[in-house]
Amino acid sequence: MRTYSIAAIPADGIGPEVISAGIEVLHALERQDPQLKFDVETFDWGSDYYKQHGVMMPEDGLQTLKKFDAIYFGAVGAPDVPDHITLWGLRLPICQGFDQYANVRPTKILPGVTSPLRNRGPGDLDWVIVRENSEGEYSGNGGRAHRGLPEEVGTEVAIFTRVGVTRIMRYAFKLAQSRPRKLLTVVTKSNAQRHGMVMWDEIAAEVAQEFPDVTWDKMLVDAMTHRMTLHPQSLDTIVATNLHADILSDLAGALAGSLGVAPTANIDPEQRFPSMFEPIHGSAFDITGKGIANPIATFWTAVQMLEHLGEREAAALIMDAIEYVCANGILTPDVGGTAKTTEVTRAVVQFITSKSAIAETA
Ligand code: NAD
Ligand code: MN
Repeated sequence: MRTYSIAAIPADGIGPEVISAGIEVLHALERQDPQLKFDVETFDWGSDYYKQHGVMMPEDGLQTLKKFDAIYFGAVGAPDVPDHITLWGLRLPICQGFDQYANVRPTKILPGVTSPLRNRGPGDLDWVIVRENSEGEYSGNGGRAHRGLPEEVGTEVAIFTRVGVTRIMRYAFKLAQSRPRKLLTVVTKSNAQRHGMVMWDEIAAEVAQEFPDVTWDKMLVDAMTHRMTLHPQSLDTIVATNLHADILSDLAGALAGSLGVAPTANIDPEQRFPSMFEPIHGSAFDITGKGIANPIATFWTAVQMLEHLGEREAAALIMDAIEYVCANGILTPDVGGTAKTTEVTRAVVQFITSKSAIAETA
């Protein structure tokens, strides 16, 4: 028996709707392969917890999570709690506390899903964005002085270290090397930002020496939005800072049809701690409770979770199910369909369990 302990943190808004769908899919895998087992424990941390306890998660939250094999995360954000509290109270402490420095965001146009790009379909856009996840603009470094006065000042200092940049660069080159096209684009803003960003460019050139079979190039982040939109086929693996990749990956999600299909993995490549898997989107309170949240991003991040856990077959089976269901038009409204979250989930579950029936009779 291969057993994995999964900590589920559905949190806010549509988080619980998509995570419960994702857990159903994990249980479908157990039925498909009786040697596979997921011990899922669900935690009620998030904005409601905050309103009761004044914190997004208990003080020993990280201690609790540490013993799990992986974390399956929904989204944070509530209309009546400031965003910096929900983010810095739960998601970022996990990313930083577990040194999940590689944030990996695969994007492609799924069959049956319409890209807003004219005349582009599956195959025209197949990217993995690697987001530096531990430093840069989100390191929490900065301050405010003279609060409320006319001379008030606020700073947001981006921190880049040689260790931090080198390890993400190495991760990105290695990932590019593992993909068929062996193509990496390094994104910075080293014309205007002439310190940390120039260091990024220099370290990229150094690390590139270790990967002579990877073809790589550099882009400025503004020009990158242009290239992603007009020449999507020219890109494959992309590495960028915490802020730049945050923005580029929302764009990537939209170009692939919807944020509702965009997954992400927060990985500790050294596997000292559990890694965290989540949809890219937020809590989407405009559609919360309507039963129409697209669960595909949450299923796709389960694919990433299973790959990380070494369960390649199960991962591939979910990916096949996603593509089959999309190709057959079982789509939520954000990608042009009329299906409910539950209908998409049922179709994915049926695809997975039907594979076991075929395997048993074959
Ligand atoms: P959002 O991602 O929640 O929503 C953006 C738009 O995409 C909305 O119109 C929403 O309806 C749509 N959308 C998102 N996910 C969808 C899905 N699965 N199916 C269908 N449509 C979907 O971003 P926002 O509106 O800027 O933020 C809402 C809250 O979420 C804020 O509090 C924000 O801080 C938070 N947030 C959290 C995370 C996170 O937890 N990782 C990420 C982004 C935003
Ligand atoms: Mn984001």
